[in-house]
Amino acid sequence: MLIGAHVDPTDPVAEATARAADAVQFFLADPQGWKAPQPRADAEQLRTAGVDVYVHAPYVVNVATGNNRIRIPSRKLLLAHAKAAAAIGAKGLVVHGGHVNAGDDPATGFDNWRKALAYAQEAGGFGLPVLIENTAGGDNACARRLDSLARLWDAIGDHEVGFCLDTCHAHAGGEELLGLVDRVKAITGRIDLVHANNSKDAFGSGRDRHDNLHGGTIDPELLVTVIRAAGAPVIVETPGGTTGQSDDIAFLRAQLGAETSV
Ligand SMILES: [Zn+2]
Repeated sequence: MLIGAHVDPTDPVAEATARAADAVQFFLADPQGWKAPQPRADAEQLRTAGVDVYVHAPYVVNVATGNNRIRIPSRKLLLAHAKAAAAIGAKGLVVHGGHVNAGDDPATGFDNWRKALAYAQEAGGFGLPVLIENTAGGDNACARRLDSLARLWDAIGDHEVGFCLDTCHAHAGGEELLGLVDRVKAITGRIDLVHANNSKDAFGSGRDRHDNLHGGTIDPELLVTVIRAAGAPVIVETPGGTTGQSDDIAFLRAQLGAETSV
């Protein structure tokens, strides 16, 4: 099982080495901004370093919203990040499930997702798997609770799209972790990546504050149970820099019996 971390984008391979990580995830542009990603000088190194690369799309991307001034740039930016991620050999592009505004019909969000995927297909495809991630908050989110996720997959399941399960988001979002993998797979048929994070906040709080695996409000053993059941590559998005993330990776590797490939 590949285990890695979300790292600073300046030198991801060095960050992987510093953490004894098999995989890295990073942003290709400001996560709070609308700038298109630029080609990376280290593209060849990233493709050949033997470290699995995942890219996280900016947080501003919301292809579900009924606000066209957000929705249209979001689907363009998502496609741009997908092409840039494919160019560095990334295994997947993670994007949050998004949401509609208060008072809007959630059905429009699921339909807007379908339109975004059709738009990308007409433009030649993403070029790599796009992994929709469950989110922690919001009453109108497309992928917070599993009832919404089921409606989302009804709308987009014909398209080739994957799923990223974030344990902090599930817990804070109000989904019980015990048995969660089976309940998710009954909807999506797949889990392509796990974001292994503890939560600083209580079950169902709707807040998105990650903690190290031994911190927070989730029993670390329960996290391990979920990760083992998912059987997918794991990325920790935990605080504490190199030390905090190295400890989290080492804990998971020991618990899961996985060996480092670095
Ligand atoms: Zn995450």
